[in-house]
Amino acid sequence: RLEIRDIVKSFGARRVVDDVSLSVMPGQVTCLLGPSGCGKSTTLRIIAGVEMQDSGTIHLDGRLVCDTVTRVPPEGRGIGLMFQDFALFPHLTVARNVAFGLTGDRAARARRVDELLEKVNLSGYGDKHPHQLSGGEQQRVALARALAPRPRLMLMDEPFSGLDNRLRDGIRDTTLAVLKEEGAAVLLVTHEPDEAMRMADEIALMRDGRIVQQGSPYNVYTRPADRAAAAFFSDVN
Ligand code: ATP
Ligand code: MG
Repeated sequence: RLEIRDIVKSFGARRVVDDVSLSVMPGQVTCLLGPSGCGKSTTLRIIAGVEMQDSGTIHLDGRLVCDTVTRVPPEGRGIGLMFQDFALFPHLTVARNVAFGLTGDRAARARRVDELLEKVNLSGYGDKHPHQLSGGEQQRVALARALAPRPRLMLMDEPFSGLDNRLRDGIRDTTLAVLKEEGAAVLLVTHEPDEAMRMADEIALMRDGRIVQQGSPYNVYTRPADRAAAAFFSDVN
């Protein structure tokens, strides 16, 4: 379970993240949804630990990982990351890419790799190299790699935006199914209402650095907090 409280971040005079609080439950997908430039990626980078907030706290499973004094480094947080341009290692096979963050004995690592490749429908692809795969296949390998060490929290920043429309729905469904099976808490950033409606258990609507509304997709869609929120959702099919 992720809990962030009162996160503030300014760049120069501009408050890009303005007092954001949010929690994400294990087994749930929470979408941070909002227009370009509203502060979504900055919020995610702060949670990942690659950017430092000016104030506010981050707890993971009850453990304080970051406030203005304590700061657990990114690799100590047990977080899986997936970004649009989170490239695979081109010189490593698919299996080695997936095994990259794994520790433990060889047989256990191999079992975990096989298990994940099967979950993302890529059994038998282990010996291929990334350049031999389609964009959608590479994306699924990236998902397997991020999930391999069993992160308690997955942070995903527009992970599907590099894929063409034809592929996207299928990959969203596969991704969602695998995330649910693995049971991590998921925070998914998107600027597309459609994607949030399709994938989220909970939507946090962000604008100008603030969370303006939070609730189930149904609630946020049918009872928008204000006119701007309604307009933002107006093109969902
Ligand atoms: P998008 O949907 O386009 O990815 P976003 O919601 O992810 O947008 P952020 O990347 O969080 O937006 O950026 C929020 C604002 O903060 C933007 O105006 C951006 O230009 C600014 N910003 C982000 N990082 C920095 C930085 N390192 N220095 C200065 N300004 C920054
Ligand atoms: Mg962004």
